[in-house]
Amino acid sequence: MESYDCIVVGGGPSGMMAAGEASIAGEKVLLLERNLRLGVKLSISGKGRCNITNKGDIESFIENFNKEGRFLHSCFYRFFNEDLIGFFRDLGVETKVERGGRVFPASDYAHSVVNAMKIFLFKSRVKIIFNKRVKELLTKGSKVIGVKTFDLDYYYSNSVIVATGGLSYPYTGSTGDGYEMLARVGHKIIKPLPSLVGIEVKESHAKDLQGLSLRNIKASLIVNGRLIKSIFGEMIFTHFGLSGPIILSLSRDVVKFIDSREKDVVISLNLKPALDRETLENRLLRDIENFGRKCYKNLLKNLLPNKLIPVFIRLSKIEGDKKTNQITQAQRKLIYGLLTDFRFTVKGARHIEEAIVTQGGVDTSEVNPKTMESKLIKGLYIAGELLDVDALTGGYNLQAAFSTGYIAGKSVSVL
Ligand SMILES: Cc1cc2nc3c(=O)[nH]c(=O)nc-3n(C[C@H](O)[C@H](O)[C@H](O)COP(=O)(O)OP(=O)(O)OC[C@H]3O[C@@H](n4cnc5c(N)ncnc54)[C@H](O)[C@@H]3O)c2cc1C
Repeated sequence: MESYDCIVVGGGPSGMMAAGEASIAGEKVLLLERNLRLGVKLSISGKGRCNITNKGDIESFIENFNKEGRFLHSCFYRFFNEDLIGFFRDLGVETKVERGGRVFPASDYAHSVVNAMKIFLFKSRVKIIFNKRVKELLTKGSKVIGVKTFDLDYYYSNSVIVATGGLSYPYTGSTGDGYEMLARVGHKIIKPLPSLVGIEVKESHAKDLQGLSLRNIKASLIVNGRLIKSIFGEMIFTHFGLSGPIILSLSRDVVKFIDSREKDVVISLNLKPALDRETLENRLLRDIENFGRKCYKNLLKNLLPNKLIPVFIRLSKIEGDKKTNQITQAQRKLIYGLLTDFRFTVKGARHIEEAIVTQGGVDTSEVNPKTMESKLIKGLYIAGELLDVDALTGGYNLQAAFSTGYIAGKSVSVL
């Protein structure tokens, strides 16, 4: 069997970047990919538009990651957003910046990013074998010496970069093989769980609201009566419960609380977060006075999207035809409560198959942050989503994959 300087396992963004960089540095590189093509997840990222990075500075970038995001500091200092934008420009992909500093290819087409990565691999002369699923890492003492595949092929090398991704969207090829390979050679794996995923709720009226999207609201996560986090923005009701940007952002914490079997996990929506208590109460009082003999349901039309009106009528237990001037002070308080603290009891999260990223993964304390080399096995490198670093939406996850891949690829050549 032919031997190599470096074997890269996985042809996603981190593996492709690692393979190309290692090859440019003079290594004889073999990339093994289980699919018949490269970058399947990359090609569907950003709803097919691929949000490759974000224009934020390093500090604000890292704030968007879990607490392990600090691990990425030195890696981002060596290869960050402008480097990535320049890297793609050199490969003919111009980029544009959108809301919140999100960077997309100007073509709005994720395939232009995937194609650029293919050109990069071709130019850097990386050998690629498709339809090869790696099963095990081969080691001698505490040194990696190659890999074994499911179809019992053996490939030998001085170094191996594992870049097999997380567990989310498994049909793209990322089924968590890397966790098993690395656990077998002694690495600690922080339990992989879904993140950036929809939330299932108990209340059946969430289903009645399916398709309703709410903007400029505040969603708060409350566990056992304690406020954990609040986020402003947009969300949508779905057939299972809640989704959309602010819900996805809360989901990392929600999933952790469910996993640790906390009982009382609630998401509270404030539909009028721009108004403080006094202003909203005064407005309600004024509206009630102005509406006088008109019905309660007409008052609600002034306050809510149509789809929410029957739900509010049911929950407030005030008849829709009741004259507004007959609404009591207690009922007014109830309406205020629903507007500012519209509660949903969390039943669970959607499955990892629907999650945008995986939280958890290889414990970063066992990986050198300057090289991505394992602290346990010499010559073994770990890159991308496989590591226990995950971020919110906004281009952060792909930058982490490209940056860790870049550092791993550059580092193998100095072995
Ligand atoms: C729907 C969706 C949209 C997203 N949009 C964005 C976005 O716009 N911006 C952003 O920053 N992030 C986005 N993400 C997240 C981002 O795509 C991932 O974090 C990123 O792809 C991780 O890169 P990776 O190289 O670590 O792993 P992956 O992209 O998962 O690639 C891993 C590769 O390894 C291969 N592989 C797995 N096991 C083996 C094995 N045993 N042997 C050989 N090969 C193997 C797989 O087939 C795959 O090609 C999105 C994710 C999803 C699911």
